[in-house]
Amino acid sequence: MTADFQNIHREVRPDGLCLLTFDRAESVANIFDTRTFEELNAHLDFLESQTKTGPVQGVVFLSAKGKIFIAGADLHGFTSGPMTDERLGNIIDNGHRTFNRIAALSVPTVAAVQGVCVGGGLELTLACDWRVACNDAATKLGLPEVQIGILPAWGGSVRLPRLVGLPKALEIILTGKQLAGVPALKSGLVDDIAYPEGMLATAERLVKRGKRPAPKAIPANLPGARQVVAALARRNALAKTRGNYPAAPRAIAVATAALGATEENALRLERDAFIDLAKTEAARHLMGIFFLQERAKKTRLPADLALDPATSTQPVKKVAVVGAGLMGAGIAQWSAGRGLKVLLKDINAAALAKGMQSIAKIFTDAAKRRVFTQADAQAGYDRVVPVSGDVPLRGVDLVIEAAVERLDLKQQIFTSLESQVAPGTVLATNTSALSIDTIAEGLQRPGSVVGIHFFNPVHRMQLVEIVRGARTDAAALNTALSYVKGIGKLPVIVKDTPGFLVNRVLLPYMSEALRLTFEDGYGAERLDRLMLDFGMPMGPLRLLDEVGVDVGNHVARDLTRRLPGSMPPDGGAGAMVGSMIQNGWLGRKAGKGIYLYDSADAKKGDDALPPLNPELASAHPRRTTQGQDETHVAKEDALLRDRLVLVMVNEAARVLEEAVVAAPEDVDFGMIMGTGWAPFRGGPLRYADTRGLPEIVARLNELAATAGPHFRPAKRLRELAANGGTFYVSAKPGATSEPSLDAEAKVYVEQAEPVGV
Ligand code: NAD
Repeated sequence: MTADFQNIHREVRPDGLCLLTFDRAESVANIFDTRTFEELNAHLDFLESQTKTGPVQGVVFLSAKGKIFIAGADLHGFTSGPMTDERLGNIIDNGHRTFNRIAALSVPTVAAVQGVCVGGGLELTLACDWRVACNDAATKLGLPEVQIGILPAWGGSVRLPRLVGLPKALEIILTGKQLAGVPALKSGLVDDIAYPEGMLATAERLVKRGKRPAPKAIPANLPGARQVVAALARRNALAKTRGNYPAAPRAIAVATAALGATEENALRLERDAFIDLAKTEAARHLMGIFFLQERAKKTRLPADLALDPATSTQPVKKVAVVGAGLMGAGIAQWSAGRGLKVLLKDINAAALAKGMQSIAKIFTDAAKRRVFTQADAQAGYDRVVPVSGDVPLRGVDLVIEAAVERLDLKQQIFTSLESQVAPGTVLATNTSALSIDTIAEGLQRPGSVVGIHFFNPVHRMQLVEIVRGARTDAAALNTALSYVKGIGKLPVIVKDTPGFLVNRVLLPYMSEALRLTFEDGYGAERLDRLMLDFGMPMGPLRLLDEVGVDVGNHVARDLTRRLPGSMPPDGGAGAMVGSMIQNGWLGRKAGKGIYLYDSADAKKGDDALPPLNPELASAHPRRTTQGQDETHVAKEDALLRDRLVLVMVNEAARVLEEAVVAAPEDVDFGMIMGTGWAPFRGGPLRYADTRGLPEIVARLNELAATAGPHFRPAKRLRELAANGGTFYVSAKPGATSEPSLDAEAKVYVEQAEPVGV
C-alpha cells in the first residue's frame, strides 16, 4: 500500500513495516515547516488507526536525501511571524503534540538516520524507540539550538538527558557539536550503526526488539548528582559565555529540572524557556547570522558587471597554488578536499615538503573527526601534486598566488604566470594588504587578476574576501566567486582598498589597544578582559600576539600610510612595538609577545589569558585600579570599551560610505565570520543601530576631542544619526534576505576563530 505526499512518502510493506520517507519536494534538504508537520500528522492519523487493527507492525523513519536526514526547523517560517507568546507557544505545542504521538504509537518505531540530523530532526528521532545512524561521512547528529540563542524545545531538552544521562546531554545541547555515527553510538544517542546499504536491515532488526523497555536509572540523573552536574555546567558555561548567551544557563536549568518533573511538566518548562529566549536580542542576532550565511551563498556579480555571453566561463576543476607556506598549503588542502585537482608550487623544496606534511596532517585530523572517510581523505591528499620546478600551467583554470607578502615578488610572479597560463586562466592573489591593481600593473591582461583572500587557518575559517580590482573583469570575478562557493566557503566581494574589509576594521582596534597600553598605561589584561566580556573570542592584545607582532605592525603601517584618517596617531606605541620586534617578542610564535606562552609561568594564567611578558610590562607606565572606587572603575571601563569598540564601528561606517562592500550585511557578516566579532550583537553596524546612532555619534565626538581625531564620526554615521536613520532599513535580521526554501544542512553558527591577517 502506498500513499503519496509532497514531503513525506509512506509505504506499508506486505510484512507490516511502514516506511515513512522524508523527501521534501523541490529541495535539497528536509526541514520541519508547516506543511511537513501537517503531512507527518496525517501519517500519524493513519498509523494510529492501522496499528490498532491493521497490518502495521512497526515504523521506520528514513530520508531520501542522502546527505540530509532532517536539517531542523524552518528558520524562515519561524522568524517571519511576530514573536508573540501565543505564536511561539503554538510552534512548540505543535512539535510536542506531533512527537508525543510518535512516542505513544503502540508499535516499535525506528529512526534510520543517514545524513545530517539536527535540531527538530534529532528531536523526532528521540521520540522513536530506537535509532540507527549511518556510518558515512555525511551523517551527523546534534542540537544546534543554543548556538542560535534558543534551546531544544520539541522534547530534546527533556528526552535527551533521560536517554544519555545529564552530563552527556548537556555537552551535546550546550556545544551544538555534531556527532558522527560511531561517537553517537558510544554516547548512547543511537542504538546501532550501519553502512548505507545495511541501514534498512538494521532498522528491521531494531523493530523486532519491540517497544523500548523502560530505561534503567542513570546515576548522574539522580537528584543529588544532577544538581552537582548542573552547577558544574553552569560554571563552565559562564566562563565560556561570560554571561552573554542567556540560552546556555536556561537550557541547563530546563534539562536538569525536567529530570525531576512529569513529562507533561517537563515539556512545559521547555516551552516557557523557548518563549523567553526566542524574544531575546541575542537570539534575534544569532539567527540573523544564519540568514547572512544564506545571503553570502547567493552572492552574485555586482550589477555593473555583466558576463560576456560569447565567453563561457568554465567551472574551476584544476587550480595551481603558488607558495606552499601556511596559507598556500591550507588553500591546496581545502580545494583538494572539495574534489579539485591542485598543483602546489614552491621555489623552496623544504617548504614544499613541509606544506605537503601539513596537508597530510589536516586530512588525517579531518578523517579522525569523520569529516572524511579514510579513503576520501587519501584521495583528497592524492589530488595535490607538489612541484618545485616549472611545469605546464595551460590546463589550469585558476592560479592562486600565496607567496610571501612583497609587492615586487608578487609582480614578478604574476608576470611570469601570465606567460605560462592559457588566455582565459584567472590569476588570483591571497594578499592580505597589497593592492590588486598594483599587482596587476604592467600585465597584458590585468582584467584576469582578482584577490581571493582566505583567512587563517583556511580549514576553519569560512569567510573569503573576493577583491575586485579597478580592472578586474566580469569573467575573473565570476570565476573567483564560483570557485569560492564551489569549495563551500562564504564569499564577500570587497573593493581593492587598503585592508579590504576585515583587516581595515580590525587594525585600528588593535592599534588603539596598543595606544591604551603603551601610552596611557592601562593593563593589557584589563583591555583584553573587557573585550572578552563584550563578546569577542579574544582580546585585541592577545589577538596581536596570535597574528604576530611583526605581521600586525606591517599591516598597520601600511594602513596608516594609505588611510591616514583611520588609524590612531602614534604617540609612542609605535616605538614600543618596534622594540618588541627588535627583541624578538613577536607573539605566540616566538613564545613571547605582550604575553608569555612557553614558560612555566604560562600555565599560571587564568582560563582566558596567559601571564604578561614581565620585561615588557616594566618598560612602560602602568596604571592600577587599586584604591579606586567601583563607580570610577566602571566608568573608566565603559570609556575603554567605547574606545575599542567605537573605533571599529566608525571604521565599519567608513567602509560602507566608501562602498568597499555593497551593504551593511556584508560588513557585519565579514566581521563576525572573519574575526568572531561578538555574534550575539549581530556585528558592528547592527550593534550601532541597536545602541542608537545619535548616542554613538555623541560619544565619538567626545572621544575625538579627548582621544584623537580618528574618532571623528564618519559622514555616513553623522548623516544617519541626524536624519533618524539606521544602517539597516529593517530592524529584523534576515529581513533583507530573500526567502529561500533550500535550507542547508548547516543550520547553526560556528563561532569564528580569531584570525591571522
Ligand atoms: P609563508 O611565509 O608561510 O609562505 C610563503 C611561501 O611562499 C614560502 O613557502 C616560500 O618558499 C614561497 N615562495 C616565495 N617565493 C615564491 C615564488 N616565487 N614561487 C613560489 N613560492 C614562493 O606565508 P603565508 O603566511 O602562507 O602567506 C602567504 C600570503 O598569504 C601572503 O601574501 C600573506 O600576506 C597572505 N595571508 C597570510 C595570512 C596569515 O595569517 N599568515 C592570512 C591571509 C593571507
